[in-house]
Amino acid sequence: MESLIAALPKAELHVHLEGSLSPALLFALARKHGHRGVPSSVEAVERWYEFRDFPHFIEIYRTAGEVLVDAEDFRLLAEDVIGALAAQNVRYAELSVSLSDHLVRGIAPEVVFEGIEAGRAAVPGIEVRWIPDFAGDRGASLGERTLDAVLAHGPASVVGFGVGGIEVDREPFAAVFGRARAAGLHSVPHAGENQGPERVWSAIRALGAERIGHGIDSLRDPALVSYLRDRRLPLDVSPMSNVRTRAVRSLSAHPLPAMLEAGLLVTLNSDDPTMFGTTLTDEYRAAAALGVDVVTLARNGFEASFADDALKAAALAEIDAVAGS
Ligand SMILES: [Zn+2]
Repeated sequence: MESLIAALPKAELHVHLEGSLSPALLFALARKHGHRGVPSSVEAVERWYEFRDFPHFIEIYRTAGEVLVDAEDFRLLAEDVIGALAAQNVRYAELSVSLSDHLVRGIAPEVVFEGIEAGRAAVPGIEVRWIPDFAGDRGASLGERTLDAVLAHGPASVVGFGVGGIEVDREPFAAVFGRARAAGLHSVPHAGENQGPERVWSAIRALGAERIGHGIDSLRDPALVSYLRDRRLPLDVSPMSNVRTRAVRSLSAHPLPAMLEAGLLVTLNSDDPTMFGTTLTDEYRAAAALGVDVVTLARNGFEASFADDALKAAALAEIDAVAGS
């Protein structure tokens, strides 16, 4: 199993740049900028990353992100994160960027994009695209401001637009997602992570969601399951994240196997790997422990991606070759 997971070409569609900040880089950037609000030892950071609930996780996530100030910081982070993905045989990744968190701190969008693009260019062997997002709990007007920044300064490698943060009603974001879609961006909202299937419906109906971040609550609504299955609307699932934010009780209680049995197009992702003490490889190990076919998950990752057809076809053919050998 270990060698199969390593050999499979993988796509990672739901991973947050800021949630992939390593302790070493966190310490280095905190020292550089004199930020005293983050821990300064590996043991302390591990304790800091023990989350009581989802809002507590968001609070820590935002504080950690404050160490990112200049373009060089964003370059270092992007290069680090993309390098770690490439080392796991990830060939294609769509990385979420919590752009609104940086905007509210007064960081210019040009700084963010300049840094992450430099990091992207520095790592060979992997295609990376960006999905800037905003924190839904901070309101629709911040969503508009975030989209304005993306449309004015985003590079061609920006393929989608998302909403994350504490999960609030999705209906108020219909206008900003309408504008994002009209500009050619894919709609990739978080929904149904811990606030019920109704949030997934509103992400579909109000935001025109083309892929759902998490959506693990979907199983509670048979009509929604049929809808998602019939349209092959993908759900990006991250088991360890759901355990660590206490959205599910334990790994063995995770709905991933049931989602696949229901015929849903599910992808496997690491979400915030350093904060949740995981990697994409660890997620594949967890999925295998749950009895799930990892080859299907690898295939689903490319199928559900916004990669071009040639990249998808090459990856799927390679997966077939690995699975058959
Ligand atoms: Zn996420």
